Amino acid sequence: MSGIFSKIAQGQIPSYKIAEDDKYFAFLDINPLAKGHTLVIPKQEVDYLFDLDEDTYTGLWTFSKKVAKAIESVCPCERIGVAVVGLEVPHAHVHLVPINTVGDIDFSRNRVAMTKEEFAAVAKEIRLGFLNL
Ligand code: 5GP
Repeated sequence: MSGIFSKIAQGQIPSYKIAEDDKYFAFLDINPLAKGHTLVIPKQEVDYLFDLDEDTYTGLWTFSKKVAKAIESVCPCERIGVAVVGLEVPHAHVHLVPINTVGDIDFSRNRVAMTKEEFAAVAKEIRLGFLNL
C-alpha cells in the first residue's frame, strides 16, 4: 500500500507542488518552520534515507540542490538549511528551510501559520524560480 508521500507524488492527495521529474517530487511542508519550507522525496518509497540505492540517493541531493536554489531566489534568508528527520513520515525526505539563525530550523519550535492563499502564492513563485534556473 502507498504511503502519504507516494499519494502526494501521484496526485491522489493534494499538495503545493514545487517541482518534479521522473524520480523526484518537491512540495511545500504543510506545517512549515518558515515560509518556503519544502520537502523533497524520491518517488520510490523507501523509509530510511540511507537505505536508498546509490543512484537514487545522489540524485535526491542533486534535485534538492536545484530546489534549494529556487527557494533561495524567492524567500529572503541567509541560506537554505537542510535537515533529514523522518520520524513522522516513513518515506525518505529532505527538508529545505529558509533560515537566518540556527533556531529557525529547530523542529521543536512552533510552526508558521500560513493561509491557503499564502501557500499557493509562495509555491507558484518557487515553481517559477525552479523553471528559470
Ligand atoms: P519528519 O518525518 O521529517 O519527522 O516530518 C515529516 C514532515 O512532513 C513534517 O514537517 C510535516 O509537517 C510534513 N507533513 C506530514 N504530513 C504531510 C502532508 O500530508 N502534506 C505535507 N505537505 N506535509 C506533510
